[in-house]
Amino acid sequence: MIVMHGTKSLNLKKSIQIKINPCVECKCDTFIANAIQLYKHIYFIPIFPQEKIFYLTCIKCQVVLQLRNYKKHLPQYRFREFKTPTWLYIFPALLICFILYGIFC
Ligand SMILES: [Zn+2]
Repeated sequence: MIVMHGTKSLNLKKSIQIKINPCVECKCDTFIANAIQLYKHIYFIPIFPQEKIFYLTCIKCQVVLQLRNYKKHLPQYRFREFKTPTWLYIFPALLICFILYGIFC
């Protein structure tokens, strides 16, 4: 039996303007931040969310930087604006309910 599983990505459809370290190309300090949420799936049904990957685009020279360890680079209050959609937590919530039902009933 073949189980189709893997990782998919979801564009969080939000972009914010942030000021951080200067761009390596043009020394401009203003970037547009976008985020992608990765999640595991089985038969294209989302199982659980994984990490977020941030992309910073320099507003002056359009250089795109990828940030995997965003907590180091983005201010804490800014990356909270990129929320993981709640529908990605439906399967883990159902799984926990099923396990608790199995334990207590
Ligand atoms: Zn630049």
